[in-house]
Amino acid sequence: MIKKATYLFLFIIFVGYLYFVHNFSNSLQKSTQENSIQEFKKYQKVLDQSFASLIVSEFSKMEQELILVSELESVKDADIEKCNDSLFKVTSSTTTLLNNITRVGPDKVFICSANPKNTGVDGSQYAYINEIFEDPNHKIVLSTPFLTKTPKGVSTVIMAIHVPVYNSQGDFVGTLGGTFYLNDFVEKFTELNDLPKGSWPLIITIPDGVLLYHPNTDYLNKSIYSEDFSNLLNKNSDVKKVLDNAVYEDGIQLEYYTYAGSKNIGTTNHIEPLPGEKWSLVISSPIDVVYKDVNSTLQKQRLLYISLVSVVVFLSLVAFIILVRGNVILKRQVDSKTKDLKIQADKLEKSSVELRKFKEAADSAYDHIIITDPEGIILYANDAVEKITGYKKKEIIGKKAGSKDLWGGLMPKEFYKKMWKTIKIDKKSFVGQIENRRKNGQRYFALSTISPVLNSSDKVDFFVGIERDITKEKEVDTMKTDFISLVSHQLRTPLSAMKWFLEMLLDGDVGKLSKEQKEYIQNIDESNERMISLVNDLLNISRIESGRIKIDPEPTDLSKLVNSVIEEYTALCLKEGRRKLNIHLKVTGAIPVVSVDPKLIRNVFSNLIGNAYKYSKPNGKVTVELTVDKKFIVCSVEDSGIGIPEGQKNKIFDKFFRATNAQSVQSDGTGLGLYLAKSVVESSGGKIWFKSTVNKGTTFYFTLPIKGSKPKDGEVSISN
Ligand code: ADP
Repeated sequence: MIKKATYLFLFIIFVGYLYFVHNFSNSLQKSTQENSIQEFKKYQKVLDQSFASLIVSEFSKMEQELILVSELESVKDADIEKCNDSLFKVTSSTTTLLNNITRVGPDKVFICSANPKNTGVDGSQYAYINEIFEDPNHKIVLSTPFLTKTPKGVSTVIMAIHVPVYNSQGDFVGTLGGTFYLNDFVEKFTELNDLPKGSWPLIITIPDGVLLYHPNTDYLNKSIYSEDFSNLLNKNSDVKKVLDNAVYEDGIQLEYYTYAGSKNIGTTNHIEPLPGEKWSLVISSPIDVVYKDVNSTLQKQRLLYISLVSVVVFLSLVAFIILVRGNVILKRQVDSKTKDLKIQADKLEKSSVELRKFKEAADSAYDHIIITDPEGIILYANDAVEKITGYKKKEIIGKKAGSKDLWGGLMPKEFYKKMWKTIKIDKKSFVGQIENRRKNGQRYFALSTISPVLNSSDKVDFFVGIERDITKEKEVDTMKTDFISLVSHQLRTPLSAMKWFLEMLLDGDVGKLSKEQKEYIQNIDESNERMISLVNDLLNISRIESGRIKIDPEPTDLSKLVNSVIEEYTALCLKEGRRKLNIHLKVTGAIPVVSVDPKLIRNVFSNLIGNAYKYSKPNGKVTVELTVDKKFIVCSVEDSGIGIPEGQKNKIFDKFFRATNAQSVQSDGTGLGLYLAKSVVESSGGKIWFKSTVNKGTTFYFTLPIKGSKPKDGEVSISN
């Protein structure tokens, strides 16, 4: 958009520039021409005036000269020759334009003359002689012009001038006069003045309009008003216009087309060469001569101006382009930077808002939250940490998490080792129950989750530790466990007594029972057994959870142990008669004797085989397998029973959990067996897991360390 606008702008500037140059050069030309013509006209006027003054001064000179020789008044016949000589001398002087100076006597007869031929001529035949004689004031007279040729043969107008001569008494005694060629005036004038090339002067009488001087000798001594003259004029020429004006207007300047068709400019000036005599002088110059100098000056000026303007326009354009480009680039850069900054600012704002939210959330969280550096030095602790531990934040920040200086250090070294290995080396989250100590010395239990936060190069940036104080839950659990323990314990004694009495009844110790009686008593016995089993499970769980159960490892032959359990269930099969299960042991490789608590492990096998028994089809197959995998003995119990539904697998080891399909095929069940088995396996140093497909079967696996379980002191053993 900006680019287009710039190009359009440049285009307009360019067109504007062309228009300007065109107009500028025209107006420059016009104004310069006008100025120059004005100048030229002034100059021509000066020329004209100088022509006029020349004529006037020449005339007055003639008058002087004529007066000089007017002493010849008293010439006698004897002096005629002398008179002739002196007049000839005057005539031939270089200063005068006069010829044929003649002394006319009182009788109008030519007494003497520079041209001796004139002596004796009767002057009364000349109108001008009569005029001066008859004029009471005897004013100087000028003859009418005559067309003649100079001694050099050039056509010209000739005129005579006569001045009065007075004797010593002041009486008029005739005239003194001479003739002059108008050509001589013009020659003298052009000699004195450097006329523009092709220019010429004109002399016209006023008011007759007789051309006394014109370069075209055809016009000479003709009145411009005569028909003769009109016939000579070229139809296309408007020379008449100038000549008319020359007669009637003084000081006029006109442009006109000459006889030859060229354009000239004429300047007119009226003079009075002698009192009462009026002439118009015109200097005509070709207009292209007038413009020539002007034109060349104009060209130069125009070129200079255009160059100057071009340079200015070019520099302006360059400056403009640089500015616009610079501005556009700058603007673009500024825009994109501003955008970036805005985005960054928005992001920052957002993240700072989010950060604040997170901090507020973390600060006010119910759980204890700490953030440490990769070495475990605490960088952040929330309010809950203060509440739970009793330490102030300023005491906490900068110290090592889990150290004795703070709330930690109560767990066995192995626990901490394992925790650090998990979070720092394996870079995984660690979850575990932990016992800690508040500042006041009180102990408490926490469920701790510590997670490493990794950077882009997979290195630990910091750790986040979240702990929940579960002391109260633990207490409640303990109370529950205690209660269950108590109840189970109390139930066990009467149940055992009932078992004895029922067995006595069934054995016929108190008399033979009818078939029907025996059947009832058997049912009561089975229910009693289930009750005993439930009470045992509850008791065992309470013992395990309260940590009162002891682990008493002894070298154990697992095959033997498994077989005894299998026998038990095979017997049960026979006894119940409902199922024809094929339960067998498969031992892969040599199974070493392992140091475990046989009662506990038997309970595990009993639970798993019992489940396989319960959840199998009546004539299904149960395989118990023992193998060795590296440092562990792997035990598995595989059945081809109902399987465990997919969505419930994750709850299988939870206390009291029973899958829906299990509940429908076997109403009896506590959901405690696997919970117990898991507790036992883990406390024996192993792991438990399973694989299952609904309606195809289930395999439970558990491991036992070949090196054996660690013994543990406790008040009681497990009840089977
Ligand atoms: P109980 O067997 O008394 O219900 P357990 O703790 O032993 O309790 O087992 C929990 C649940 O696990 C069972 O209710 C059943 O849903 C499921 N289960 C355990 N073993 C098997 C098995 N071999 N086949 C199918 N389901 C099983």
